Amino acid sequence: MTLTEKLLARAAGKSSVQAGDNIWVNADVLMTHDVCGPGTIGVFKREFGQTAKVWNRERVVIIPDHYIFTADSKSNRNVDILRDFSREQGLPYFYDVIDDPNGQWKYDVAKGNLKRQYGSNYAGVCHTALPAKGHTRPGEVLFGTDSHTCMAGAFNEFATGIGNTDAGFVMGTGKLLIKVPETMRFRLEGKLQPGVMAKDVILHVIGEIGFDGATYRAMQFDGPGVASLSMDDRMTIANMAIEAGGKNAIFPFDARTAEYVDSRTRLNGTKSAYDPVEADASQSFVYELVVDLDQLEPTVACHPDPGQRKKAKDLGSIKLDRAYVGSCTGGKTSDFVEFARVLRGKKVVIDTFGVPATPDIVRDLQATRWGDKTIWQILEDAGVRMTENAGCAACLGGPVDTFGRINQSGLKCISATNRNFPGRMGDKESQVFLASPATVGASALTGWITDPREHLV
Ligand code: SF4
Repeated sequence: MTLTEKLLARAAGKSSVQAGDNIWVNADVLMTHDVCGPGTIGVFKREFGQTAKVWNRERVVIIPDHYIFTADSKSNRNVDILRDFSREQGLPYFYDVIDDPNGQWKYDVAKGNLKRQYGSNYAGVCHTALPAKGHTRPGEVLFGTDSHTCMAGAFNEFATGIGNTDAGFVMGTGKLLIKVPETMRFRLEGKLQPGVMAKDVILHVIGEIGFDGATYRAMQFDGPGVASLSMDDRMTIANMAIEAGGKNAIFPFDARTAEYVDSRTRLNGTKSAYDPVEADASQSFVYELVVDLDQLEPTVACHPDPGQRKKAKDLGSIKLDRAYVGSCTGGKTSDFVEFARVLRGKKVVIDTFGVPATPDIVRDLQATRWGDKTIWQILEDAGVRMTENAGCAACLGGPVDTFGRINQSGLKCISATNRNFPGRMGDKESQVFLASPATVGASALTGWITDPREHLV
């Protein structure tokens, strides 16, 4: 069996499964957020009763992150619905925007969008926060009401996005009927070269198979090249499995996985025991591709979908209006480090936005010094508009006052986010080019799509 088949067999209490089998699996964690949480709660209450209790309080994780820093009252209200539900159910893992459990969330426009407006429990973008807060463990099954839930496959778990109806059912029962996906194997060899990042790996892969090339399939990344990838790198790759239609992504377990998971569960006091899955000697794949990391170059997915792969060096004629670094995919500490490495001591020439995925990342960037400046200061000095209000922000457009949202027709934006279908970051006539934070940085310096290797020192 492949990693995904082994994991699903175990979660279903079976000795073996094969692709195409329909099986009931037990969930280890259900995650929801402010956009889908109210709908999920509505389904749960409708189907199980107004006074029903969730199947396991410790396993429901609620992370408001999407439409948070906006004056839109309905969006603010969604956070309050999550708070009311978490209090009613006694959920220990609700990462509220505010500290008062009886309060109401209201974004304060007068404070502006750069300075922190959240309390001490706020966790930021769900997919980045889940592992950081100790909710991703090898061998487990994670369901989330968000398509990029697949990011947790970096931790050797089965993680996939589900709709509100399924999530309401999981909330009540802890189970879900799943068709076992076929597995595609991506064997990574070699090591990434300077200026090339994990984002380039996944953009290369999606370019190879197309934006529907993994529809309802598991994407298994393995091979000797995995060892050189950090957990942040693996998260970036797994995050975008859904951009090829993938059901899930999965990486093998190794010492690096253990180090990350053990430190995060210890730090947060979450469940520390886990049981990773290892690949069988004999595995059956529907597709196999060898990816030589040494040979990859800075890559861009052009408008209008993540499969429109080109090399950055061949796109120098595309004039840009805006650059954006942020999101679960591209807003991690390591992403901002590479962004800052390119921008250090220089000035951007187009509007450039930086949105860390989580408050912890804000703190990392404000605490880490390169010489006499923090990384945060280096980015601000380069002209990047950095916000402390960590969250999804303009990755998916959002309400019209969302920081970094494209509100003007026809703008071209290079972005470290993960999705670029028309209208994704705001205006329907805008164009989004997906790239690594290094490529976004180099492009912000020139105003044209630029290979970051030209700016490495
Ligand atoms: S940052 Fe973007 S891709 Fe990630 S969860 Fe938020 S909206 Fe979705």
